[in-house]
Amino acid sequence: MTAAIANETLLASDEPAAFEIVNADGAGSAVVVCDHASNRLPRRLGALGLGAADLADHIAWDPGAADVARRLSELLDAPLVLSAYSRLVIDCNRPTHSPESIPAQTNGVPVPGNRMLTPGERALRIEAVFSPYHRAISDVLDRRAGRSSLLLSIHSFTAVLAGQRRPWSIGFAHGRDRRLAALILAAMNRDASLLVGDNQPYAIDHAADYTIPVHGEDRGLPHILVEIRQDGIATPADAAAWAARLAAAFSQVEPAALRLHRISRR
Ligand SMILES: [Zn+2]
Repeated sequence: MTAAIANETLLASDEPAAFEIVNADGAGSAVVVCDHASNRLPRRLGALGLGAADLADHIAWDPGAADVARRLSELLDAPLVLSAYSRLVIDCNRPTHSPESIPAQTNGVPVPGNRMLTPGERALRIEAVFSPYHRAISDVLDRRAGRSSLLLSIHSFTAVLAGQRRPWSIGFAHGRDRRLAALILAAMNRDASLLVGDNQPYAIDHAADYTIPVHGEDRGLPHILVEIRQDGIATPADAAAWAARLAAAFSQVEPAALRLHRISRR
C-alpha cells in the first residue's frame, strides 16, 4: 500500500459512521454500550478474504447483543452506544497494541485481509472505527457529569467453543471493582432455573480488555460486563425477554448501586 492510499479514509461517505448513539440524553442511571454489535465491514476491506458463513459467525460480532442492548436502553431509558463495524475490522474491546486488536486469525480461522498490515493500514482502522466509537462513549459520559452513571457493557458468547459446551445462561464479568457485579449476581441467582457465571465465561483483564477498564474503572464508575449465551437470544423475542430480565434485575439493585461510592482513579 502506498502512502497516498493510506491517507484515504476507510469509510466512504455513504457508509455508516463508526458508532450509533441511541437515546443520548436518556434520564436513567444506566449507560449501555455494545462493542460487538455489528458484523458490517467497510466496503474498502471487501470480505477480508472470508466467506459469508464466517462473517455471519461469532468471530465477526456478538449475535443478538445489539437486540438486547437496544431493548435494555428502552426499558431503562438509558443512552446506548453501539459499534457499527465488525470486530474483525478492529476489536473495540481490545487495546490497540493487543495482537487481538486486528486479528490475523481468530478462533482458529485465518483472516487473510488482516495479515501483514502496514502501520498506515492499522492507523486507518484505529482512526476510522476504534477512536470515534470510544470518543462517542466518552462524550455521552462527559455530558452526564454530576449525575450517576452505571455502565453496562452487553456482549454475547457462543454456546459451544472448541467442542466444549458452555453451561452458563448468562455471565457477569468484572475486574478489580466487583461492587455492581455482586449486586446483580445476587439478584440473578434468585432465579434457580439459571446458571449464572461469575467472571465466567470471561473475566475482565485491565491489560487485555478496553471498554470497561477505560470507561468504567478509570472513571470510577460502577460497571459490569454482561455476556449472554447466543442460543438464548437467537430471535428478537428471546433477546427482548433477556433484556426484560436484565432490566428487572437492574431495577432491583439500582438503589444500592447508586449508593456505591465512586472508586478512586488509577
Ligand atoms: Zn463481545
